[in-house]
Amino acid sequence: MVLTPNNELFPDAELRRYARHLALPEVGLEGQVRLKAARVLVIGMGGLGCPAAQYLAAAGIGQLTLADDDRVELTNLQRQPLYGEGDLGLPKAEVASTRLRALNSAIRIEALVERITASNVMELVQQHDLVLDGTDSLIARYLLADGCHLAGVPLVHGALRRFDGQVALFPPQGPCYRCLFPRPPPPEAIDDCATAGVLGAVPGLLGSLQALEALKWLLGIGPRKGRLLLLDGLAGTIQPMALAQRHSCPLCGESPTISAPGGEQAACGPKGLAPEELQAVLDGPKPPLLVDLRESWERELALIPGEGLHLPFSQFEERKGELPRQRELLLYCHLGIRSAVALNLLQQEDYQTRHLVGGINAWLRETGQQERLY
Ligand SMILES: [Zn+2]
Repeated sequence: MVLTPNNELFPDAELRRYARHLALPEVGLEGQVRLKAARVLVIGMGGLGCPAAQYLAAAGIGQLTLADDDRVELTNLQRQPLYGEGDLGLPKAEVASTRLRALNSAIRIEALVERITASNVMELVQQHDLVLDGTDSLIARYLLADGCHLAGVPLVHGALRRFDGQVALFPPQGPCYRCLFPRPPPPEAIDDCATAGVLGAVPGLLGSLQALEALKWLLGIGPRKGRLLLLDGLAGTIQPMALAQRHSCPLCGESPTISAPGGEQAACGPKGLAPEELQAVLDGPKPPLLVDLRESWERELALIPGEGLHLPFSQFEERKGELPRQRELLLYCHLGIRSAVALNLLQQEDYQTRHLVGGINAWLRETGQQERLY
């Protein structure tokens, strides 16, 4: 038993359990006490939430709330190894709580078999020090982004598709999720895991990355600014990108228009172009210059015809000065994620630019070229 910096007693069993944390000068006893005092809300106990909650429980987060209204299905086991065959049909939040209590009985774990809604999000978020978004629902994602910013709680976001994914840290003061994606895209522009497929280790890696970002934030170590980590699972790379706060952000900008969670619903926003509008814009009197942010191998698979430039996203930060300022740019990529990040960077520098919401895949679907989707 030792005395903590706050003169509380820290039991011997916990000193032994967290010995590998205590050995890190960046954590030490003071950091472990911080983790023990922390309250973390994990929304969604699927492919992201499972590994994230496992590492958070193992790390000694004092209070974990696990929220999910789904039940375990056979198709989940391919990427949610916290569950077993005997759990089929049971509520994920409850099964996960039982498993994690067996892992660490010294922490409090609450199971919430509930869906996140506009009416419960604020109360839930306010009771925690950090929120980890592991949902695959866009509605929940925007509710959490809004709720966290309005309540001043940091958010660790995660999303994935097929072999790729992203993890972002949104500090309480911004930038926020809406600095990247001001409003939800139209529903048809979005694939979910059920239709798109996913290799199970990809969410395992992303959920672990989310836990790492959450632990660093709570310990007060590592970068404290908003940033995005883009995983390309096929290439095996993780690219970090600094996020900029957007002055015109409807949530954290200079004149915010959102004062309650889920305030503004589906629309592309002034800087997003819906795929069904693309042809008319390209045929118009002042067609924008298409900027393809994808890698060379992706251009072999499909291209949007029109006058354009190729600037791979992996070289974007070094080479963005090559883009013309006198002409409107239309950024596009595979799914509209890289283009949203690039748009965010260019808007700080007064470029005239928009991006294609949902990327080339949304456009291929819109133009009936399903066979070229990738
Ligand atoms: Zn914002």
